Amino acid sequence: MKLRQYSNPPEGCQPRRLTRVYDLCDRALARLFPPRCVICLDPGQPPALDLCSGCQADLPRDLPSCTGCALPLPQPDTFLCGDCLRAPRAFDAAFAAYRYEFPLDWMVRRMKYGREIAAARVLGTLLGRVAATAHALHVQALLPVPLHRAREAGRGFNQALEIARYAGRELGLPVIHDACARRRATPEQVGLDAASRRRNLRGAFELIRSTGLSRVAIVDDVLTTGSTAEELARVLKADGVHWVEVWAVARA
Ligand SMILES: [Zn+2]
Ligand SMILES: [Zn+2]
Repeated sequence: MKLRQYSNPPEGCQPRRLTRVYDLCDRALARLFPPRCVICLDPGQPPALDLCSGCQADLPRDLPSCTGCALPLPQPDTFLCGDCLRAPRAFDAAFAAYRYEFPLDWMVRRMKYGREIAAARVLGTLLGRVAATAHALHVQALLPVPLHRAREAGRGFNQALEIARYAGRELGLPVIHDACARRRATPEQVGLDAASRRRNLRGAFELIRSTGLSRVAIVDDVLTTGSTAEELARVLKADGVHWVEVWAVARA
């Protein structure tokens, strides 16, 4: 599959120069600290992936899955689940690399609550590699789900941005990190049903500047009900983006 390479990333994207600086830093760090598998502690994959190939092969892929919401499908010869056939979502397609089962759930928790940025690098690289081989690439850029400033300050980083950064690097796609913002710190969604999540998220995002693009993938760590991505997709569509996909490392 031919991957798109953008010599001039859209305005506001992470500049290519910065990506090269990250690459150089990663390579330098990998020499000092050779990669080690975050799961079994065996040597990782050079130059800087903290996951061994054996553990990577054992991860639970999200196949077959619905192209509309990425939920597992009972049969490989169908494309959309019953829910997506009945009521299309605010986004046009969904793709998840893996299912949110062990060890993905454990890796995501380590990243989010243990503040392990190495886990974000592993998850983002995996998302990029699986997307390159298993998903038709129609999008021009990746747009990580924004975190509210207060929550980002507390965690020290936005996990969706870190994942998008590494996935974008694998795919040669720019990452837009400043077009949308989270207007308010919505309470944690964990444990809420779909209707409560939707209420919780109404008006949660605002457009800071137009992306000027027509095909964008929203990137998040875990896709659960899809309400967050739907709310963000509505904002992007109102800005004129006509094809919005949702990409997640794992589907819950
Ligand atoms: Zn391993
Ligand atoms: Zn579906």
